[in-house]
Amino acid sequence: MIPRRIPYLVVGAGIHGLSTAYHLARELEARGLGSGADVLVVDKSRPGAGASGIACGVVRNNYFQPAMSELMQACVEVWESDPAAYAYNPVGYIALGASVQEADLTATYERQERIGYRSELIIGEAEADAHMKALFPDWRAQGVTVCLHEHQGGFAFNQDSVDGLHGKARGEGVTVLAGVEVTGFEEAPDASISAVETSEGPIEVDEQVVVAPGPWAKQFWAMLGMPDTIDVHTPSGDVARERPMWTYWNLQEGEVGLDPMLFATADGGPPPVIHLDTDAPLVTDGGQLITDELWGIYFKRDRHSVQGGASPLVVEDDVELDPYPQTTDIDPGFPDLFCAGLSHSMSRFEGCRALYKQARSGGVGAFTVDNFPVFDYFRPNLYGIFDSNHGYKMIGVGKEVASVLLGDHSRLLFPFRFERFATGDLHPVSSSPYPWS
Ligand SMILES: Cc1cc2nc3c(=O)[nH]c(=O)nc-3n(C[C@H](O)[C@H](O)[C@H](O)COP(=O)(O)OP(=O)(O)OC[C@H]3O[C@@H](n4cnc5c(N)ncnc54)[C@H](O)[C@@H]3O)c2cc1C
Repeated sequence: MIPRRIPYLVVGAGIHGLSTAYHLARELEARGLGSGADVLVVDKSRPGAGASGIACGVVRNNYFQPAMSELMQACVEVWESDPAAYAYNPVGYIALGASVQEADLTATYERQERIGYRSELIIGEAEADAHMKALFPDWRAQGVTVCLHEHQGGFAFNQDSVDGLHGKARGEGVTVLAGVEVTGFEEAPDASISAVETSEGPIEVDEQVVVAPGPWAKQFWAMLGMPDTIDVHTPSGDVARERPMWTYWNLQEGEVGLDPMLFATADGGPPPVIHLDTDAPLVTDGGQLITDELWGIYFKRDRHSVQGGASPLVVEDDVELDPYPQTTDIDPGFPDLFCAGLSHSMSRFEGCRALYKQARSGGVGAFTVDNFPVFDYFRPNLYGIFDSNHGYKMIGVGKEVASVLLGDHSRLLFPFRFERFATGDLHPVSSSPYPWS
């Protein structure tokens, strides 16, 4: 039975919607204001049907932007609070870069030191090589002059962690309804949302609405009457006029059907997630040049394979998102690049191209105009979690949002307010080739 009236309605049962619902239920109880019975989550499909269910699952703090780094530290604390339920593997994360990335990674490391996030910085080609060879004796990547080894972070199994969060929310008394599509909002005269229109009829809302739509951000943006393009004021005072608020990117990911145990550290332990960027020429095992420009891949040990991805591709037009993520395509050259990149890293991966799985992989993400999340109120009682595709790792955002809904100020979410585009309080931009660093 669908409730016709509820105090708190959360739209979207991905990592953000479910985390918000779970933490809100706990906060309501802890403050004597209610319980999980006051919270309803609706999803047009099912929990994990969006980006959260297909994410590579990497959890890292390698962000050049101070606000991202501090928020990520709080998120990693949530992952670490219940690794079993969240299917979280605290194996750590290593970012390796070419000289162009030295300054950024050094700044990132220094901030991690200041905020107490456990990591190590290794500078110099020989030093980085020695660090990696101690972990993987067959390490052979070239052109790497900087290595940031985060001893926190790692990865989680995507759908399993959504299921874990779903179970925890339900355990607090939250109702999660699949197959209920939100089609619009009814406004009261003061512009607050009085009811949410759904495929199953309207649901009145007594307190607040949270939307956490992942790649469907643009659709909700339109439902809320927000503009397609906005002016972006930069910190220097320049104004970039009428920039599209939303851009889609295709995230290219794939996997190699190797025995995952082949990818272990020298002492037989689980390997950290590895992200390699280098300007060394990339050639296939057969000697064919793929690129002599900066390239990068990230990879991790999965349950049945070695899985990872490369730089995403911008999509020029709108995309048909449903059924998600069937509509995505990867570059036909991606399997060669990914496998050559693995082989470039470690000799154990030589010849892995033959084991590349020709399964459709990756998916579409919706990015904001500055590629960083927007977390803010869009009506007096409607809060939007628009994560700009950063966010599987951001499991702690829902915890912060829950406390904001109950009237607290969040120092961690404040830098992500929508107003930043008008005031010029933008996040600094790194030298990374990725839109999410
Ligand atoms: C291929 C890929 C790999 C990624 N890898 C990583 C990674 O390694 N690490 C990382 O941190 N991030 C990663 N991301 C990004 C991350 O997955 C997303 O940022 C995050 O999962 C978004 O979570 P969400 O809860 O906002 O949205 P989603 O998980 O997409 O959930 C949104 C939900 O809203 C529902 N919905 C949509 N419209 C409606 C409607 N009208 N009515 C009701 N329900 C609706 C959908 O069915 C969906 O279940 C990756 C993304 C992709 C695509």
